[in-house]
Amino acid sequence: MNGSKIFTTHSKYAELMLVYVRFGPGVDGIGSVLVDTKGPGVRFGKPSRFMSDEEWVQTYFENAFVPADMVVLKEGGFKKQIAGFNVERIGNTARSLALGRYAYDTARAYASTREQFGRPLCEFQGLQWKFADMAIKLEGAQLLLYRAAANADKGMPSAYETAVAKAACNQTGFEVAHEAVQIMGAAGYSKSSLVEYCMRRCRGWMIAGGSIEMLKNRIAEHVFDRRFDQRGRQQAAAE
Ligand SMILES: Cc1cc2nc3c(=O)[nH]c(=O)nc-3n(C[C@H](O)[C@H](O)[C@H](O)COP(=O)(O)OP(=O)(O)OC[C@H]3O[C@@H](n4cnc5c(N)ncnc54)[C@H](O)[C@@H]3O)c2cc1C
Repeated sequence: MNGSKIFTTHSKYAELMLVYVRFGPGVDGIGSVLVDTKGPGVRFGKPSRFMSDEEWVQTYFENAFVPADMVVLKEGGFKKQIAGFNVERIGNTARSLALGRYAYDTARAYASTREQFGRPLCEFQGLQWKFADMAIKLEGAQLLLYRAAANADKGMPSAYETAVAKAACNQTGFEVAHEAVQIMGAAGYSKSSLVEYCMRRCRGWMIAGGSIEMLKNRIAEHVFDRRFDQRGRQQAAAE
């Protein structure tokens, strides 16, 4: 196996990696293997950190040998593997919602007690409307997450419902945490509260595990009931 993977959270601590590999051309040529990171031909690059402070290092595979019993899915396995990935997406979705909810609760407590101009902040309509907007976003996103999770009780989550829930919760988590920072002023921006961390962490989930743009591509396929190949026509033809 040859190639490399740039961004993987905490990759240098992994003993075993699930790697999507190409056995042949096109989507049907993709499968997956397990890789022992201590095996020959596997090495890590220079460590770096995301905005969330989590570590990542690039992983290089240089003539890495994969024994037959480490092949998870041969060519044609990609669609099956990616269906399972919707479970991981639901987890990412729930975490975004939870951190948004935590930031909201923290800001609500702050606005109930912090006084300016002789009144608690929550008595200013400018801040009340921020909380109303945050509540609308959180309630809506939560229902979409519950729908995707509840409908998966007899199998894998639906790709469409997962995409809608993840886009809504990722956006909501970040926007609510961002607004909570503003409502709490310097106390929100300070590392003395977890609200700024919620904002940074939620920002990453708008990119990781299927970026919001890729989720919207999936949603558009449902809207038009057809597949839109993201590859240029020439590349698709070459494959
Ligand atoms: C916090 C964090 C943790 C991560 N952890 C892991 C991990 O543990 N394991 C792992 O495998 N990966 C991980 N990743 C990598 C993640 O999967 C990729 O960052 C993600 O798939 C986007 O790929 P990219 O960064 O190469 O962006 P690019 O593919 O270069 O995209 C750049 C921008 O263009 C947009 N874009 C690209 N193609 C299209 C298109 N067809 N239509 C519309 N917009 C498009 C993207 O949405 C994005 O906004 C992590 C990333 C982050 C941020």
